[in-house]
Amino acid sequence: MADTTPRIPSRQWRGVLTEYADRLGITEATPVVTLGEGGTPLIPAPALSARTGAKVYVKFEGMNPTGSFKDRGMTMAISKAVEHGAKAVICASTGNTSASAAAYATHAGITAAVLVPEGKIAMGKLSQAIAHNAQLIQVQGNFDDCLDLARDLAENYPVHLVNSVNPDRIAGQKTAAYEVVEVLQDAPDFHLLPVGNAGNYTAYSRGYTEELERGVTTKLPRMFGFQAEGSAPIVLGHPVAHPETVASAIRIGNPASWELALAAREATDGYFGAISDDDILAAHRILSAEVGVFVEPASAIGVAGLLQRSEAGVIPAGATVVITVTGHGLKDPQWALRSEDGSEVKPTVVPVDSAEIAGVLGLVRATS
Ligand SMILES: *Cc1c(COP(=O)(O)O)cnc(C)c1O
Repeated sequence: MADTTPRIPSRQWRGVLTEYADRLGITEATPVVTLGEGGTPLIPAPALSARTGAKVYVKFEGMNPTGSFKDRGMTMAISKAVEHGAKAVICASTGNTSASAAAYATHAGITAAVLVPEGKIAMGKLSQAIAHNAQLIQVQGNFDDCLDLARDLAENYPVHLVNSVNPDRIAGQKTAAYEVVEVLQDAPDFHLLPVGNAGNYTAYSRGYTEELERGVTTKLPRMFGFQAEGSAPIVLGHPVAHPETVASAIRIGNPASWELALAAREATDGYFGAISDDDILAAHRILSAEVGVFVEPASAIGVAGLLQRSEAGVIPAGATVVITVTGHGLKDPQWALRSEDGSEVKPTVVPVDSAEIAGVLGLVRATS
């Protein structure tokens, strides 16, 4: 049969498995399942630099194909699953893993089953999983229950687990650290990011450690991870039975990569801190209104963490800081319509009348 796969011009970013094939152990035997993930922008954020005196960059992972960093790990996990003959994959999810698993599985022509906590995932993410043909099951429990069930099913039935307890996920996600180093030509002094299951925290730490071992960087960044106050097991030092936060992507009470994350904190002189929902939403507003980057609430926590740590005197002037903003704002857009006092923002309605609009905008007619 003729190969009908369209040829991709070499100048187009080819996805992380092809771009970093040698570093990820990808060979001819691996069928590369890609939607072009990775290659996301590292955006200088002058508004955050002005507030802190540091050189602040935002790694905008919402620019991935399904709108979150999960795609970096999913291209790897689904490719490896297909390589091993899997016909179906399963995952537990607070939303973004299911969106990503659904898209990559359907692209590969296999089935994705996703377990999500009932009523606890953002509408955009639910829509993605359904649109991409996943078998979506709402579980009457929280994320941690879903992960226990997914593990149990993968152990006892012919489905392949693609949560971040699957090492292929972490391997794919480390590529974000490679990209940061390529742009900055060294590691940053600090790297800040949200922590849910702590898979991404672990992945970045690994990526940076490899770069140091390869001799392309001079240091490890201090890895600072942030959890929401109502969902901060690592900060508290014990699991949280009923995690609560507006940041649904990190509403996790018993992180899967807890031990790995503690080791990474140790190795990088890192830190785990807790942030209130109010501070998360304030940071969300700063990212939207001052930086021009629209994220979902969980993704703003690194910015809140920067402001908190900067205030505490931990971030020296001139330090290079990278903050990963993990998911796109369009997935969970309702928060943008909430003003600081919690009231709903209502756009002004006017008749078809330019003078009236000029009045609302405070414009004064130009005199000629
Ligand atoms: C999954 C996710 C996180 C948390 O990542 P972990 O690897 O579970 O710590 C944070 N933000 C968003 C948007 C996510 O989808």
